[in-house]
Amino acid sequence: MSNFKLNPGFKRWCEKAATAFRSEFGLLATAALPSEKMAEYLNVQVVEFSELRIPAESKTYLLTQGSKEWSAATVSSSKKTVILINESHTEERKNNSLMHELSHIILKHEPSKFTNLLEAGISFRTYDEKLEKEADWLAATLLLPKDVLETIGAIVSKADIERKHTVSPELLRFRLNLTGIGKKIKNQ
Ligand SMILES: [Zn+2]
Repeated sequence: MSNFKLNPGFKRWCEKAATAFRSEFGLLATAALPSEKMAEYLNVQVVEFSELRIPAESKTYLLTQGSKEWSAATVSSSKKTVILINESHTEERKNNSLMHELSHIILKHEPSKFTNLLEAGISFRTYDEKLEKEADWLAATLLLPKDVLETIGAIVSKADIERKHTVSPELLRFRLNLTGIGKKIKNQ
């Protein structure tokens, strides 16, 4: 993967953002933060791929050579920002993909490239590697902030957290490892 190191200040900021968004929505610090709610708050429209009214050949492109790993993409037109979601993926993956795209918007990332795949001035955004890493980190933190991870114990299991927060076991493991909270839980 990449060699970019995210600085501790950025990581702390992400934790603070996770708390701030929850409090903005009147949610507890340990509550699930629904990515759809975040999209609404950020005035971003979320569209499932099948709902998209584009020519059949564009759809075929996006589902085949466009990328097999294609999970979500932010497209912009002159009027608004729209996030396209590949609805064939699991709920957990869609939730993370949407939060990742929203994270680019929250962080005001400048795309390195716009790819015009579709007609009518709609273009896909591409970001450089460092910005991708930042968006990954912020998305993971928004979904699973330390406040949430610290509730795991005798009463709340990892599976409970995965269900409640609509996250994959991989994402939970990633956060537990990188925050050091996984170690604490093991030693309890
Ligand atoms: Zn991205």
